[in-house]
Amino acid sequence: MQAIEATYLGHSLAPRIGEFIQIRRDIHAHPEMAFQEHRTAALVAAKLADWGYEVTTGIGGTGVVGRLRRGEGRKSVGLRADMDALPIVENNGTPWSSRHAGVMHACGHDGHTATLLAAARLIAEDVDFDGTLNLIFQPAEEGAGGALRMMEDGLFERFPCDAVFAMHNMPGLETGTFHFRVGAAMASSDYVTITLRGVGGHGALPQTTADTVVAAAAVVTALQTVVSRNVDPLHSAVVTVGAMHAGTANNVIPDTATLELSVRALDPQVRQLLKARICELVDLQAASFRVKAEIDWRDGYAVLVNSPQETRFATRVATALFGGERVNAEAPPLTGSEDFAFMLQKVPGSYVLVGNGGPGTPGACMVHNPGYDFNDEIIEPAARFWMRLVSEYLKEPLSI
Ligand SMILES: [Zn+2]
Ligand SMILES: [Zn+2]
Repeated sequence: MQAIEATYLGHSLAPRIGEFIQIRRDIHAHPEMAFQEHRTAALVAAKLADWGYEVTTGIGGTGVVGRLRRGEGRKSVGLRADMDALPIVENNGTPWSSRHAGVMHACGHDGHTATLLAAARLIAEDVDFDGTLNLIFQPAEEGAGGALRMMEDGLFERFPCDAVFAMHNMPGLETGTFHFRVGAAMASSDYVTITLRGVGGHGALPQTTADTVVAAAAVVTALQTVVSRNVDPLHSAVVTVGAMHAGTANNVIPDTATLELSVRALDPQVRQLLKARICELVDLQAASFRVKAEIDWRDGYAVLVNSPQETRFATRVATALFGGERVNAEAPPLTGSEDFAFMLQKVPGSYVLVGNGGPGTPGACMVHNPGYDFNDEIIEPAARFWMRLVSEYLKEPLSI
């Protein structure tokens, strides 16, 4: 650890952050998959209760909300952290490596949870505000939609928020730098399975078959034209065929072939265009080879859209704390996806990226990689950002 000089309200935070580095490493050593975050949720609930929060557990499965009310103010703000891990075998060699075989905190959600806990304690002990603070610890961000499950369980009816904010670490960006973007910041992500059904037969007698391998190859090639020929070149879209399965032997023509696609866009209208065009193209290509196409389209996460007012507010908070050189107010959008998008469809707010380490440093190892680890040096500045954001938002909103 580098020495930390930071202060808040005149007190050095350094001696108080060590506890949360230990908590982060403890959560890291005990990763839990989507909706299985029982140990993590219990730890979060116990800590929040210790610090005076009203704690509600079991929201959307293993979700936890800690509420702290002060004064008579009617304003409320929500801060969200995610708690789930990934099915990856860890190999970063740290003493706090996963003790659960095949499960790893490879996206830093251990760090997001520990950081929000650090903010929870420091706010409870040090920050005056007037209103309601809701700390939202969600399960299952990695594809299983924990945010939606919490919302279906009445998250924002039971804990109304005028604004919500979330943070994610970002490898490759300098440690402790803050990155904001107004508008679309992360992509929608849809899952598509295409099954082609033809007529199988002997490899020596193709004239008696409707060959699904040839049809699948043509479909994959044709799909490349959706982004290159149908989407406005000034917009972004991704159509990836990540899996293709057909056949078992060189002399047998298979009667089925399947393709698995990931489809992403940064604009809801582009997302609709992709769906319409992919379905049309697959159907027509299949028909041209006399095979039938079944398309199983599963809508994943929505486009994540940061609201202008709240994003600018959060940017000003970070700039006031850290100075303009550590803040990027116009970060580029990402083609990754994030289910905080659903919370932002319901409540205005913003999703901030915090640098996990610049190029050439250990923190630059990308998330979802067996060698990744959350950079503990982020905890202090990110917790300080949450503290200042709460004190400003619940004092005179949007005033700084
Ligand atoms: Zn992830
Ligand atoms: Zn993540």
